[in-house]
Amino acid sequence: MRVQSGDSLSVIFSRLGLSAQEASNVIALGDQAAPLEKMRPGDTLDILISADQSLKSINYQIAPNQSLSIQRNADNQLTANQIVLPVETRLATAEGHIDSSLYQSAIDAGLSANMVLQLADIFGWKINFLKDVQNGDHFRLVYEEKFVQGKRVQTGHVMAAEFTNAGKVFQAVRYTTPEGKAGYYEPNGASLGRGFLRYPVEFSRISSKFSLARLHPIYDRIKPHKGVDFAAPTGTPIHAAGAGKVEFVGWQHGYGKVVKIKHDGGYETVYGHMSRFNDALKKGSTVAMGQTIGFVGMTGDATGPHLHYEFHVKGVYTDPLIAKMPEANPIPSKYRKDFLAQTQSVLDLMAQNSQAAPLNAANASALATND
Ligand SMILES: [Zn+2]
Repeated sequence: MRVQSGDSLSVIFSRLGLSAQEASNVIALGDQAAPLEKMRPGDTLDILISADQSLKSINYQIAPNQSLSIQRNADNQLTANQIVLPVETRLATAEGHIDSSLYQSAIDAGLSANMVLQLADIFGWKINFLKDVQNGDHFRLVYEEKFVQGKRVQTGHVMAAEFTNAGKVFQAVRYTTPEGKAGYYEPNGASLGRGFLRYPVEFSRISSKFSLARLHPIYDRIKPHKGVDFAAPTGTPIHAAGAGKVEFVGWQHGYGKVVKIKHDGGYETVYGHMSRFNDALKKGSTVAMGQTIGFVGMTGDATGPHLHYEFHVKGVYTDPLIAKMPEANPIPSKYRKDFLAQTQSVLDLMAQNSQAAPLNAANASALATND
């Protein structure tokens, strides 16, 4: 059976006519049975019931490689047993031409929707996938596939990618530092990203642009708008646009609940009208790019829920939608040797693939690697 939304072990048991006492017996198995208290809708659960309406066995697939089995033994006791199978990661390659949209072409080449998102993310600062992509563009990928007992269970990370846009070739390779921090770089070690996010909120619409003169909706007089407003539902997470230090977190007249962050290189960002803050933030806290610092609201002078976002460059109010963002740092020199060693084989694999016939899901080559 499939776990439904709102299901818990006791809800499922009562639906199957099993007693509440049986559910307690299972929970009493402790740690071993604990995954049954964290089931998610869509999970698979097999329950066998004896003729006398007592529980015979439960089989729960916790993850593609992990399962929990609860059995009633000969002494009429329940026993729990978890099985974890090794996951094997293999590298696969795929290639495609754009002849409709990036999305459709990628799906046609056997890629998952998740991989299309990864691809768009990796090259997001180089290529505008909504505007610039055209017929005849071409992509090539090396990506991970996860296998359990020889069966492909899911795809993993994109390990290397190439996108040819209007004849211009962009390449990216994934690198994980010895400390475990992963990112995408050009094969020469240059960063593909920027030190800042363009948009500090997702799923939003720009409700008011940067302008040095506009009619203010509350004061009803001309007042410059030295930031950008992103309309989004109350509670939408707001991300730190770049790494930095919290300069101010609190209430300030028209801004309502506001966070100000100071970044290296003379940059400062301001996030106003929040409904609430990330409780962990204090003046002087260090934040990472993309970290949630608070949530959209309409505190202060706001007529509806939105983020008022300001981008200051060396003290000057700047339009964040057109500002030239600083490049993210390249591979630090201390990791350079490790970077070249780690990325060589996937780049070779992508290059080999370029001389071969186009691959798709049916004939994607697979090379075994260590997980
Ligand atoms: Zn505003």
